[in-house]
Amino acid sequence: MPSGETANSSPAHHAARAADGGDVLESITPAGTLDRWTDRASRLLHVPMACISVIETSGAVIQSGVGLVEIASETGLVSSFHLFINRVVAQGQPVLLSDTRPDSSIAASPEPRMAAYAGVPLLATQGDRLGVLSVADHQPRAWTADDLALLQDLAASISAHLERQTLMGALQAAQQETEAARHALKRSETRFAKTFSLSPLILTITSAADGRLIDVNATFERLTGYTREEALGRTPVELDLWLNPVDREQGLQALRNNQSISNVEAEFRMRNGQVMTALCSAEVIEIDGQPCVLTVLNDISERKRAEDILQRYQLLSERARDIVLFVRRDGHIIEANQAAIEAYGYDRDTLLSLSIYDLRAPVTSVEIEAQMARADGSGILFETVHRRRDGSTFPVEVSSIGADMGGERVLLSILRDITDRKRLERQKDEFIAVASHELKTPLTSAKVFAQLLRKRLNRLQDEPAGRYLDKTEQQIDKLTELVNDLLDVSRIEAGRLELQAQAFSLVDCVHQIVADIQPTADAHGIVIEGDLATPVVGDQDRIGQVILNLLTNAVKYSPGADTVIVRLEDTPDQVIVSVQDFGIGIPPSDQAKIFDRFFRVDGTRERTYPGLGLGLYISSEIIRRHGGQLWVISEPGRGSTFTFSLPKHLAATPSSLP
Ligand code: ADP
Repeated sequence: MPSGETANSSPAHHAARAADGGDVLESITPAGTLDRWTDRASRLLHVPMACISVIETSGAVIQSGVGLVEIASETGLVSSFHLFINRVVAQGQPVLLSDTRPDSSIAASPEPRMAAYAGVPLLATQGDRLGVLSVADHQPRAWTADDLALLQDLAASISAHLERQTLMGALQAAQQETEAARHALKRSETRFAKTFSLSPLILTITSAADGRLIDVNATFERLTGYTREEALGRTPVELDLWLNPVDREQGLQALRNNQSISNVEAEFRMRNGQVMTALCSAEVIEIDGQPCVLTVLNDISERKRAEDILQRYQLLSERARDIVLFVRRDGHIIEANQAAIEAYGYDRDTLLSLSIYDLRAPVTSVEIEAQMARADGSGILFETVHRRRDGSTFPVEVSSIGADMGGERVLLSILRDITDRKRLERQKDEFIAVASHELKTPLTSAKVFAQLLRKRLNRLQDEPAGRYLDKTEQQIDKLTELVNDLLDVSRIEAGRLELQAQAFSLVDCVHQIVADIQPTADAHGIVIEGDLATPVVGDQDRIGQVILNLLTNAVKYSPGADTVIVRLEDTPDQVIVSVQDFGIGIPPSDQAKIFDRFFRVDGTRERTYPGLGLGLYISSEIIRRHGGQLWVISEPGRGSTFTFSLPKHLAATPSSLP
């Protein structure tokens, strides 16, 4: 600035307000207001320099100045004024310096043109220091009493102004704060109300004074069975919620000792009497100035039940001799018992890192997935082969069913090593094969000798001897039938049941068999209904054997009835033959089993109706090999209808009989 120029002639020299801490002041004191005071001070006292500094947390900051050589610093305006301003602030009294130049610090001051300084404190009504009003001259100057009085007058006005502004600011800030707090409260209240009502946990608020329920949420209503109306105004004790009231007492005691309760397991009685296990947390909160208890219950009954079941299962399965595996739907083994560890030869950790695919002898994943899907549905029982760690295999019977364990869908599989059973079955099969073969030869010669004997007897005309021979021949025939059945079973088991396919009239075959059997079934009339238009392709003898078996059974198992009906039906794809009797029927639980070999329906009937339980097994195998099906519909006491179907397309490919 040129030396002759007066500071107040240049408004540009109104110092900028402090950058730091200025925001608050700016909002309440327009910069222009303070500038007017500095202008006035410089004019009234005829000084080129004047400034107002305000005490802020960082110290005195020049807010408005005129004629200052300003040096911007990060915290605002710095000038040699500060030296004197700080002195005024420290003393709380006016500081009047008529010649500042001897002051050693001025030499280094960036305000070399200052020669005289006068500063008075700006004081609030209560005496608090608000700031400093400073004036300075380029020449030394003896400050008069009038000068001081003038400065103090101005300072009083500025102080009053600042105080007012500060008060207003504080008020405004307080108002804003209250408003913000009100909003925050409202928001948190809404949030609380929402959380309360929507929480999946049971939430209740009880009055700390009398323990009565003030509020309960929807989960409380849903899980306990008590409606809001029933619950509010009553205590949990009145609702009989706590299974062990001691638990509640202990909780209350903790709350009284200013402790909160966190996840304590307790049992609660629901409205319907069922018991719920829950983790209980509680804490005292204030609502409308009243102490209340906010209780949170996390229902873990399901988890508890699952844990109990798991524990029971573990106890059971560890003692079981069968292999027990829990398998996830992706095949991963998640639990195995001791028997499994012993059977497969893996240690527990390795076994639990494997999948069911690692334990099965090679088989397609499609097959395993299909079995798992069926197991997960209604359960499944099947035989397969499993593999040990050393690569050796063993046959197993698997019983598998889907179960929920800890919220996860798993398959519980119980596997029985059937190596011994298979060996016994094999031995039995071999024995049957050998025995029936060995029986066949003497039976055949017995039959031949019986026929020779008949010829001689015919010549002797010995009637009683003839009757005995009839009986002998009948017994030989029965025995032959049994031996034939046993031989058939051996052939089926060995996969050697041979079928000779040819086109034949099934209708004629049926009529022929009925004609043959009718004389021996004197108590029953065998009726044939329906007809078949096309010939059938298949093994006539074997299909005849099936029809004969169904008819003999129908007669045999309906001693009190007088009719057996054979129905023939032609459909576009297949021929259907059914044999209906009105006899004793078959209990539903046995209906699937009667097609197993050696199966006979339990009970005293075993003695009444002779048989080995092989006919239906052989029949169903014959029909299956023809590509058809054999099934039964039966009601105990009302009779049974055995039906088989044969596909017509076999006609085109007679050689397709496997
Ligand atoms: P078997 O008659 O020689 O015992 P099957 O294999 O022909 O052997 O039949 C198996 C079992 O099925 C019989 O023991 C009997 O309990 C039952 N069964 C078969 N047919 C009938 C029927 N028509 N009515 C009632 N039960 C039957």
